[in-house]
Amino acid sequence: MLSIVFGLSYKTIQPKKHTLIWSLVFALAAVKGVINATNHIFTDRDFYWIFINAFSLLLQWLTWAGFRLRAKRSPFELKLIFALIFIELILVYFTVFNPHAGYRMMLIPLFGGIMMFLCGWEIFNTQNKVRPAEAAAIIIFSLYGLTQIAAGIIALSQGPTVDSYYLDLYQQVNLIFMPAAFTGMGVFTLLILVDDIGEKLKALAVTDSLTQVFNRRGFYQKSKVLTSGSNYGDAATAAIIITDIDNFKTINDKYGHHAGDKALICFSKLLTTAFNDSAVVGRIGGEEFVILLHTTAVNKNSLTTYELVERCRKETQELDISHGNNTFNLTASFGIVEFHISDSSIEDQLRKADQALYDAKNQGRNCSVIYQDPDKDIVSEAT
Ligand code: GH3
Ligand code: MG
Ligand code: MG
Repeated sequence: MLSIVFGLSYKTIQPKKHTLIWSLVFALAAVKGVINATNHIFTDRDFYWIFINAFSLLLQWLTWAGFRLRAKRSPFELKLIFALIFIELILVYFTVFNPHAGYRMMLIPLFGGIMMFLCGWEIFNTQNKVRPAEAAAIIIFSLYGLTQIAAGIIALSQGPTVDSYYLDLYQQVNLIFMPAAFTGMGVFTLLILVDDIGEKLKALAVTDSLTQVFNRRGFYQKSKVLTSGSNYGDAATAAIIITDIDNFKTINDKYGHHAGDKALICFSKLLTTAFNDSAVVGRIGGEEFVILLHTTAVNKNSLTTYELVERCRKETQELDISHGNNTFNLTASFGIVEFHISDSSIEDQLRKADQALYDAKNQGRNCSVIYQDPDKDIVSEAT
């Protein structure tokens, strides 16, 4: 059932390699169940034992490989592949050459337990922050790992020959805990998959698909968090800059809409690198972008906001945009407003920055204007 669920997820909602691998894991687990149930057809018992345990190792590696791929890391870790081969060789040794019931039965569950912890480690290391679904999965994987290690220790307690007491206990652990733990592993892996899709949709809802900067909704969301004061304190100052590409319609008319799109991508890239790390960049109109930045952080560069914006404006006019056989340039106008985080709402500040941008356009474009509060006498305009 889990194999089908993962297979369908691959087809419909998450067409990623790791979804397919997990579908394969559960399909192979079902095959292994059938082989286990019909094991009497194997006349060579040693061969059956070696074969079924190699199958288990493959399943353990595939499960782990799925989490490696999800974390965008290579599943072909040489050390681990050698360890798997080594375990199988020891198993052959204690099965054929120097039979020892405890050792040969202990190896796979013990190694399986370690692999479950390694899966948990991969989940832990996928993103900067562990999400609740991931934390739940890590707990389930650890519990499954502990169950397997317990089974391994019970198997080892038998000593060199099969001991009916420990064998009984081993089978009970396998019968009672393993199906629940295995199903839990599948369900929680599925939960991670669903949670990944949720995260992706959340990110898409706040991202501009062309330029990959925040869209209007994303910009508002992010700027509200940044200006809530918790990070920088109410005394901190910030600036909002609205910028609009000059005569963009002419670029579209002259070089075509695709060239215009390319210009938007290049310009947004320039904006995201022109300011400090705390800057939030969003696209709020066709060729209109907004930047929110903490000026407390700007001061560390010993540049004023105006100087930073001017530097960005000059970089913009020097930017060569190539599309097809054409290379062209663009200019942009900038409206700036500086304020105390505690002053007033983002919407108010955006209105002021927009007014400054309007003034910049009126002053002939390709310039930066700081918003002047009409209630104050001091003229702080600079062009
Ligand atoms: P101004 O200097 O006054 O800002 O003039 P402008 O030509 O830049 O402004 P206007 O508002 O007249 O034109 C904006 C153009 O931007 C019109 C629209 O077709 C184009 N545009 C809006 N969104 C996109 C987009 O996603 N891609 C492309 N290529 N063009 C776009
Ligand atoms: Mg424009
Ligand atoms: Mg515009």
